[in-house]
Amino acid sequence: MVTGESLLESKQPEENKLDAFTTKVAQNTSDAGNMTAVDLHKQHFHQTMQALEKITRDFSPAPTIEVLAQQVGLVYLPPPERPEEQRKVAIFDMDETLIHCVDDIEKENPEVLLEIDFSPNQDGSNPEDIVCAGINIRPYIIECLEEAAKNFQVIVFTASHQTYADAILDYIDPDHRLISYRMYRQHCYLTPENYYIKDLRVIANRDLKDMVLVDNSVFSFAYQLENGVPIVSFYRQPPQDEEMLHLIYYLSVLGGVNDVRTQNVQAFELHKLAGLQPPQFEEEAGQVEGDEEQDFQEIPEVTNESDYDSIRK
Ligand SMILES: [Mg+2]
Repeated sequence: MVTGESLLESKQPEENKLDAFTTKVAQNTSDAGNMTAVDLHKQHFHQTMQALEKITRDFSPAPTIEVLAQQVGLVYLPPPERPEEQRKVAIFDMDETLIHCVDDIEKENPEVLLEIDFSPNQDGSNPEDIVCAGINIRPYIIECLEEAAKNFQVIVFTASHQTYADAILDYIDPDHRLISYRMYRQHCYLTPENYYIKDLRVIANRDLKDMVLVDNSVFSFAYQLENGVPIVSFYRQPPQDEEMLHLIYYLSVLGGVNDVRTQNVQAFELHKLAGLQPPQFEEEAGQVEGDEEQDFQEIPEVTNESDYDSIRK
């Protein structure tokens, strides 16, 4: 994870310029061309375990809400378009979750080339401030964002810089039809250990039981593991990437539960992997026997596009 660099510190050689604005998870590029889907899953699990170990062993405790409000500020989401159906909020990370910004546009043949203007006024006045970014777009993201909106208000929360993120999100969602709100690096809490954390308590007008954060990096939800939906990092195809198809189904399950955290704890077992006691939430404590089944649903595996189609019908 790239941490701690500010705009003012970003004057550096052209080939590294984008690094200051992004939060890419490093990939071993010597292996990258030969990685299979299984390799990527193994790599993700390994990175997740390492992150959980670091979080539990080395991280300072989460800040109080007062410190958080003072350092980051609170965010008030706009009302959802359809308040009845979109009481919950699905929050998507950007880099390696929705897209991948390639390191070398010459060698890696990205799907899309975007010119991003980092000049202070973004007026193109200084050609040196315009950087060409090569972007790979994860398959099925449009379908996933559209499906998610059936049960959630959909927002993006990236630890990358706003200028970079807006250029990419404007490409993905030019009419602001899919993503109702955007949060950026300035909305992250920077830990004393120099990690950007997406502490969902900054969203002041929503309940934690109604928010999920889909993110390839466990560090992002370090303070609320129970709100996290970990997803394998995306770099490019091949190998065929169908993570968004799996996510469509999982989000449809979350759409039907009272507290998303209870379902996440059971589905991903991040607390267990971290050696932590899983948290208990109020509804569980107050639940009468027999009610439990209403809140937990079996999650059938979605393995290909035809499964996905059958779910949509
Ligand atoms: Mg990411």
